[in-house]
Amino acid sequence: MSESYYDILGVARDASADGIKKAYRKKAMKYHPDRNPDDAAAEAKFKEAAEAYEVLSDAQKRQIYDTYGKEGLRSSGYSGPGNSEDIFSHINDMFGDIFGFGGRSRRRDPNAPIQGDDLRYDIQISFMDAVHGVNREVEISKRETCWTCDGSGARPGHRPETCPSCNGRGQVVRSQGFFQVSTTCPQCHGAGQVISEPCNDCHGEGLVQKSKKVNIRIPAGVDTGSRMRLSGEGEGGRRNGRSGDLYVIIHVEEHEYFQRDGQTIYLQLPVPMVQAALGCEVDVPTIHGSSTLKIAAGTQAGDRFTLRNEGVPSLRGGGKGDMVVEVQVKTPTRLSKRQKELLNEFDAISKEQEEEGFFSRLFRGNLGKQKKKADLADKVANG
Ligand SMILES: [Zn+2]
Ligand SMILES: [Zn+2]
Repeated sequence: MSESYYDILGVARDASADGIKKAYRKKAMKYHPDRNPDDAAAEAKFKEAAEAYEVLSDAQKRQIYDTYGKEGLRSSGYSGPGNSEDIFSHINDMFGDIFGFGGRSRRRDPNAPIQGDDLRYDIQISFMDAVHGVNREVEISKRETCWTCDGSGARPGHRPETCPSCNGRGQVVRSQGFFQVSTTCPQCHGAGQVISEPCNDCHGEGLVQKSKKVNIRIPAGVDTGSRMRLSGEGEGGRRNGRSGDLYVIIHVEEHEYFQRDGQTIYLQLPVPMVQAALGCEVDVPTIHGSSTLKIAAGTQAGDRFTLRNEGVPSLRGGGKGDMVVEVQVKTPTRLSKRQKELLNEFDAISKEQEEEGFFSRLFRGNLGKQKKKADLADKVANG
């Protein structure tokens, strides 16, 4: 897990725009390449800070980042992390003359590697596949490095050349009266290089559109929103840059009977009224097969039983969750004559027992209760 943009700048998540700017200025001063020549670690930190600032200084990007993370920025069409082309543009906006940039910081090496973009792939899987894990082969259309030119964009035997108009800076400075104005170089369109002999296969892009089969091993225990990173399966890099990554986002379908909350499985189990009253043993379907559950005598609708280790395996290892069975008491319908007789008989006996019960108290009040109690005592006494 990479550091959050807030961590990188060392600010709180609710930092003000001004606070973010100040924090970034500090980091940028500390790690600026002019102050740390040939220090790769410092350069990395510098780029990191710039990327963080680029997102957090823009209210819209910051909101997307807060809600959906870096992934959200990419899927919203922002170039997102990894694209640090604009680093120096806002550095210069911000510091102006602090570094006395004479072009050194701005000049890009026209042969510097460019990392491939990350890709996002949304995949839908069944409830059981999420629980047990599954292998899926998917076909992904993406831009891959053109191996004819090794991603350089130049026809074999040729190389991209530093743009003569801007000297590789991608920007040209023009004088307008007292002012000097920088604009994107019209010859190279800001790339800093020109390709006079473009590769026939990729037309100078360095990348070609291809479709590739990728095998995705989805581990047991994933849930909707689980994210997997397939390193190097994103878009191809250019000029020997590494490939981007492929992010797979899981969406799990619902199950007809089972519900799931994290590692716990829930099941509503219909139990016939008589069996709920007498108690019984039932075979309960579980996500792993089936299990025997003892329903205690006198079980009420809504009572819950827990089956240990019949839940979802942990993604990080360390055992399975539990399954919670909630009893639904089923009242019989369409009774036969004999069943009706038996239930009526049952009812008659129950009424005698239930004189003390809720309904009798409710309808007959306390006086009746005293009288009935006496009657009952008589009955018992007389056998
Ligand atoms: Zn090519
Ligand atoms: Zn140019």
